[in-house]
Amino acid sequence: MQTGYRFRCYPTPAQQAILLRWIGCQRFIYNAKVGEDRYYRAFQRKALALAGQHPPIDQEYARYKNAELTPWLSEVPSQVLRNGAVRWKQAYSRFFQKLGGRPTIQRRSGPQSIWLTSELFSFQPIADTPTGETRYRLHVGKGKFPVGGIPYTAHRPHTMPASITLTIDAGRWYVAFSVDDGLPAVTPEEIAAELATWSEADLRAAAVGVDRGITVPVYASTGQTAVLSRVQQQRMEKKERARQRWQRRMARRTKGSSGWHKAKYRAARCQHYAKNVRQDFAHQTSYHLVTGEETRLVVFENLRVKAMSARPKAKRDESGKWLKNQARAKAGLNSKILASAWGRTLTLAQYKALRRNKLVVTVPPHHSSQECSRCGHTHPDNRPSQAAFVCQRCDFRANADHNASEVIRDRGVALVRSGEFSAKGKKKTMRLRNKVGAGCSEPGSDGTSTPGETRVRHRAGNRKVHESPNPETPATSRRL
Ligand SMILES: [Zn+2]
Repeated sequence: MQTGYRFRCYPTPAQQAILLRWIGCQRFIYNAKVGEDRYYRAFQRKALALAGQHPPIDQEYARYKNAELTPWLSEVPSQVLRNGAVRWKQAYSRFFQKLGGRPTIQRRSGPQSIWLTSELFSFQPIADTPTGETRYRLHVGKGKFPVGGIPYTAHRPHTMPASITLTIDAGRWYVAFSVDDGLPAVTPEEIAAELATWSEADLRAAAVGVDRGITVPVYASTGQTAVLSRVQQQRMEKKERARQRWQRRMARRTKGSSGWHKAKYRAARCQHYAKNVRQDFAHQTSYHLVTGEETRLVVFENLRVKAMSARPKAKRDESGKWLKNQARAKAGLNSKILASAWGRTLTLAQYKALRRNKLVVTVPPHHSSQECSRCGHTHPDNRPSQAAFVCQRCDFRANADHNASEVIRDRGVALVRSGEFSAKGKKKTMRLRNKVGAGCSEPGSDGTSTPGETRVRHRAGNRKVHESPNPETPATSRRL
């Protein structure tokens, strides 16, 4: 089974300077490939003779190395440059698998990372540790381009990877890689097939339903709850206020100035605390949910976190007047939803369960808070208050969250026993925008053009800008 690791590492300022240079050169190659690809595709759109021809998608980068124009590229190992080209090609193959868009320009102000293959790093054991464990030190660089040993904190043992990624997150450096941990690779479908043969009572005893809410983020049918501590919440609020303050300062300062960079760094650091708290919460909660001794099945609600936390649509009445849409109230709710790290808890529970030969499933959440877990009677009247559940038919009384978690558990049990479980769910693909001309480099992919035919539209050029009534893009005559 492939497992990913991410450890904090501590390069010295001198090492950081070298690595930042390497990062910049790898980004340069990546962006050069992006730019070249865009350039060729622009011609492809304009010339009918070129329709259906694609610029090559390869890993060549030698043409960008030029002694006069790009002398700095000779000052880094060639593998750094090649990996930039490989990363671009990998990004492109993701696009062809419809997993994402075309590779785009990577900004100097965006997230920074470098991919290093085995020629450029090694893990060397440090023998004389007082505990007797073998620890490792990361060595980066080769021959003409030494960087040196970089200490890192491995919070768990790992085997040696073939490639690593060094990333910078809010001023901190991390080393990340993925290795095969030797555990047998089981698929969720295999576990589901095994559990489907169990009797309903056995499976119900081995299942845990998880209700996710606003007041109590996680409520399990075993009675376990998980909440952020008061101190954590207070600190998160304090850091959030500080972040807003630094962000305001950033807005007032000259973009790109040293003061602006400082404010940006401080804002990022404030945000980092909440991120770490949520990450820690999600890891601990998912661990406790899947490690119960009897547990074989964990059932989550299939909440669409992204849709739920989206900004509400703007409302207008017939005369075109804007109405209140409670965006402010929703914004407060959004931060609470995200703060409780629902989505991440589910993702982490999935891989943690798989490593222990257990299964995580998601079930539709509709009316789970109004349904009686004993008789199945579903009615809004079953909820006299936020906290209490009283069934109007069988008079079953319980904590509302507890009742909901049992309803969710039973739905999961029914799903697994029906044998219809599939880990993939609905196939998620990116919807390609129906762009005329531009989107047709894969004929027929958007279903509007037949294979072999490419529609070409003569682009409007700058005419729209010249006619624009918008003062941001003034008409050329007005510029005089
Ligand atoms: Zn009932």
